[in-house]
Amino acid sequence: MLGLYVHIPFCAAICNYCNFNRGLFDPALKMRYLAALETEIACTGDRALGADTIYFGGGTPSLLEPDEVTRIVSACERAFAIAADREITLEANPESVDEKRLAGYRAAGVNRLSFGVQSFRGEELTRLSRLHTAERACLAYAEARRAGFDNISLDLMMWLPGQRVADWLESVDRAIALGPDHLSLYLLEIYPNAPLADEMARAAWSQAPDEDAATMYLTAMGRLDAAGYEQYEISNVARAGRQSRHNLKYWTDGAWLGFGSGAHSTHDAVRWKNVSSTEDYITRIGRGEPVAIDQRPLSPEERLGDALFTGLRLTNGVNTERIRARYGVDVWRRYGEDLEIYVNAGCLRRDGERLYLTREGMLLAHEVMAIFV
Ligand code: SF4
Repeated sequence: MLGLYVHIPFCAAICNYCNFNRGLFDPALKMRYLAALETEIACTGDRALGADTIYFGGGTPSLLEPDEVTRIVSACERAFAIAADREITLEANPESVDEKRLAGYRAAGVNRLSFGVQSFRGEELTRLSRLHTAERACLAYAEARRAGFDNISLDLMMWLPGQRVADWLESVDRAIALGPDHLSLYLLEIYPNAPLADEMARAAWSQAPDEDAATMYLTAMGRLDAAGYEQYEISNVARAGRQSRHNLKYWTDGAWLGFGSGAHSTHDAVRWKNVSSTEDYITRIGRGEPVAIDQRPLSPEERLGDALFTGLRLTNGVNTERIRARYGVDVWRRYGEDLEIYVNAGCLRRDGERLYLTREGMLLAHEVMAIFV
C-alpha cells in the first residue's frame, strides 16, 4: 500500500528557525495551488494502485478550509484505490483552528491530527516566533477532542535556545497531562542562515551543553514510558495502535507519492522530488509540463543502504533476515566488523534476526547509521 503525501506550503508567518518549503499565505495563490494539486493527483493517479494513508504536511495545512481538504481527499479517492481503513493526517497549528474548523476536517475524512505545539512555555514560544501560546495549544487540543478526534499527536521541540533541562521537562509533563495518543520529540536544528541564529547571537541565548541534551532526551523518554507510551522510533512514541502509519512507510522501506511543491516520492525503486517553488509548480502544471525533477532509479545498493539506515530509527530495528531475502545481503557478514564496536559499547543490540539501537545508542544514531551509507 502506498502513502500519499500532500504538501501545503503556506504559513501565516514564517518562524525564525524554519527550513521547510513554505511561504506566506496568499488566498489567491492558495486557490491556484489547490487546482494544480488536483491536476497533479489526477494525472499521477492509477486506480490499480492502493493507498492507505494520506498525510497533509506543510507549511500549515490547517490554513486550508475544510471544504478544500474535502476537495483534495476526493481527488485522491478518484485517482487511487484508497483503503477503507485509511489514516488521514492533517498537521495543524494551534492558532489556526477552532472547534468548527476541526469538526469540518473530521467531516472531510481527516482522522488524525498532528499539532505543532513545540513548547508549553510562553517564553520559548516567543523565542521561536511561534504565533500561539501554551494556553491556545491546550484549548486547540480540547477543541479537537470535542470535534471527535480520537487520534491526536503533539510535536515538541527540545534543546531550544536558553532552555534548561527542567524547562524541557515541564513541557513534557504538560503534554503527558493532556493525554495525546502520540508524541513526536524533535531536536531543534539551527541552520546557519536562520534568523534565529542571529537573534541568539544578539541576545546571547545558547543551547544547553550536549550532556544536557542527552539528559533531556533520556529523561523525557523515561517519563513517557512511565506514562504508558511506547517508543517506536527515535523521536516518536505512541499509545498502543496509534503509531503513525504514514510515517512508518518512510522507515520500513515503503513506497509513497508526494504531491505539491517540493514534495518527495519513492515508488517502484525510483525517487524524485517536485520543483520547490510554488509559482513554478503551478505554472508547470498549467502548461502540462512535468513537475518532477531529480528523478532517478535507486540502485540495489542505495535501496539496501536506505532500508538499513531508516530501519535503525525504529525501536524494532532492522530484520536482517528480511534484508537478506530482499537484497541478498548478509548484514552481519558485510558490516559486522564496524557494527561490533557499537555492540560492545552497548549502543547496538543483536537479538536473533533483529538488529536495533538501545535507547542510549539512539543518541549516537547518526554515527551508527553512517556505516550503511
Ligand atoms: S509554521 Fe512550521 S512550516 Fe510554517 S514557518 Fe513555522 S515552522 Fe515553518
